[in-house]
Amino acid sequence: MRVQIAPSPPSAGPGHTLSTFLIDETIAIDAGGLGMSWPPEALARIHDVFITHSHIDHLAGLAVFLDTIYDLGPPPTIHASAATLRSIRKDVFNDRLFPDFVKLSRIMPPFLTLAEIDADIPVSVGKYQITPIAVHHTIPTVNYLIDDGETVLAILTDTAPVPSVFARVAATPRLGAVLLECSFPSHQARLADISKHLTPSQFREAVGLLPSVVPVYAIHIKPRFYTEIVAELNDLDLLNFQGVAEPGDIIEVRPPAVVGYLSAP
Ligand SMILES: [Zn+2]
Ligand SMILES: [Zn+2]
Repeated sequence: MRVQIAPSPPSAGPGHTLSTFLIDETIAIDAGGLGMSWPPEALARIHDVFITHSHIDHLAGLAVFLDTIYDLGPPPTIHASAATLRSIRKDVFNDRLFPDFVKLSRIMPPFLTLAEIDADIPVSVGKYQITPIAVHHTIPTVNYLIDDGETVLAILTDTAPVPSVFARVAATPRLGAVLLECSFPSHQARLADISKHLTPSQFREAVGLLPSVVPVYAIHIKPRFYTEIVAELNDLDLLNFQGVAEPGDIIEVRPPAVVGYLSAP
């Protein structure tokens, strides 16, 4: 499985402003930069979009995406929790912020299909099983485990430290890689606490619960604090920390190596 971090605009500095992860060029997790990050022919290959929550850095590119690929093929399915779907209908497609694509889809070839997800109920998309897991953020939020049949990628973003969530991810069979948020440096711990995000020390605690053979990449780095956060993360000296998953990066997620000894014949 390959996951690409949505590229940033060329003029943007380091860090992540908009959240979107593209799985094998066909499934998107979050839509923050979705409509702005790839050309129309690449966007048209994306048939399913899974949203974590309705904060604008995860949703800003949804309308542009749908507008760009309209009628190029079957309408994509947008998967989200009931709370996030409510926000998509009321706050985005409301004929003020953007035309009401949901209403228009009833009277003309549809722009999109909406599908409600529930925590812990896997959704099948072709060979993939995508499982939402509830996390603790300022609004209802799910994160995702993406299983392609060979390996599992965990995308953990916009969450306060919840050891039970990290332990559950750690226990996932065939876990191949984890993208884990680290939004604030330690001197902004109070802001991280209020906004339900992680600092580097909380990132370390989470990684400590994961198997040491599973590569971990940092995501959701606030651009303003990029240098500080990266320095603090590197100082942690974590065995499995692979660095920041930078905008535009493509990461190959492989099944975990089998660790152990073969018994002698
Ligand atoms: Zn966010
Ligand atoms: Zn958020």
